[in-house]
Amino acid sequence: MARYTGPVCKLCRREGLKLFLKGDRCFTPKCAIERRNQPPGQHGQRRRGKVSDYGLQLREKQKARRTYGIMERQFKRHFEMAEGRPGVTGENLLQVLETRLDNVVYRLGFANSRPQARQLVSHGHFLVNGVKTDIPSYICKATDVIAVRPEHATDEYFKVVAAEIGRKDIPTWLTLDPRNLSGTVISLPARADLDVNLNEQLIVEFYSR
Ligand code: SF4
Repeated sequence: MARYTGPVCKLCRREGLKLFLKGDRCFTPKCAIERRNQPPGQHGQRRRGKVSDYGLQLREKQKARRTYGIMERQFKRHFEMAEGRPGVTGENLLQVLETRLDNVVYRLGFANSRPQARQLVSHGHFLVNGVKTDIPSYICKATDVIAVRPEHATDEYFKVVAAEIGRKDIPTWLTLDPRNLSGTVISLPARADLDVNLNEQLIVEFYSR
């Protein structure tokens, strides 16, 4: 599956907020948003006029896509999956995005950013319910157990992760077993469980035009 390979700090500057795509650097003064919070490009400093409803909806969709590192077609597929679930489509969409395997790996603290989590998954470092799974877009279900493959647990990277993993905050819909470098999806997250700065209703409106 294709992925964006260009400069990621530009994406944050375009959206005007931190999307936390570079791990630890995002928390330092080197962050491009801290240094130069203006849209990228020659005309980035220009004053913008009033933004249309469509413009707002588009920006929100792009923000969600870029936060989770998903290309257009796959994002649309996630939206269609959300529409097919019972309940509120916008909340379902966030649930689908949050339960992507790469996001769960990130939320469990096995990676410092979603792009890093995606790479770890696609390089085959994880098991889901005991089966090697290298598809970042795999949608986890309640009771799924995600674990570092035993043959990778002694890698230098995972030794560092093991030493630090307990210090990170884990969302309430996940549990972590730091000793075994594994985590479980207790239940699918409800909107109140999600700490994401997105207005999902605008995304629903974007696709309902
Ligand atoms: Fe975004 Fe992180 Fe770059 Fe800051 S350092 S602009 S938060 S990707």
